[in-house]
Amino acid sequence: MQHDGENIMVILSSPSGVGKTTLTKKIQQKYPSFKISVSHTTRPPRSNEVNEVDYHFVSMGKFKELIKQKKFYEHAEIFENYYGTLKENVDKTIINNDIIFDIDWQGTKQLSKFKNLKLIKIYLITDSKKELKNRLIKRDQNSEEEINKRFSAFDEDIKHWNDYDYIVINKNLDICFKQIEKIIENSKKKFTYLFQ
Ligand code: 5GP
Repeated sequence: MQHDGENIMVILSSPSGVGKTTLTKKIQQKYPSFKISVSHTTRPPRSNEVNEVDYHFVSMGKFKELIKQKKFYEHAEIFENYYGTLKENVDKTIINNDIIFDIDWQGTKQLSKFKNLKLIKIYLITDSKKELKNRLIKRDQNSEEEINKRFSAFDEDIKHWNDYDYIVINKNLDICFKQIEKIIENSKKKFTYLFQ
């Protein structure tokens, strides 16, 4: 992976329903240098999702072909669907932009193996498990079975917190956003020291 410039890569992982999408969009609005990495997935689109904007929605056959051709920097099976980050998209974007990845712990592990990346790994959580369940229910985008599946996946996620640089609690969206901004600003400075 090429990463010689000034630009940084921010991974934002979280269980579903913690506000990751809202925060990612807020970062992008305030810092136009940030582009969101649009993943490939075999999951069917939700009613509010747009192909090529939220995800590149592809068939299982197409996804497996891309794996075989080694087109992904990372990919993972999550809730019986495949998700992955295409090399070509990252390589093009990082030349002129910072990138935000909305990927899970499996993808984070795989990206961490690339050396010399200006990579910041943030895990976002609610301040309690009860609150997480409430938000999943309120989101109303998934069936009860889906909600339970996503909720139980959180116990697996917790085991991988050590792989992250920061754990940030989203109790209040504005405070959480400010914390993420600080992390980004300080990390940019840190990388300037490390890579000069
Ligand atoms: P959702 O189906 O709710 O959009 O996403 C489910 C999970 O897949 C989330 O935890 C999200 O971060 C993760 N995810 C989305 N895209 C990717 C990807 O390209 N790679 C990996 N490893 N995880 C992804």
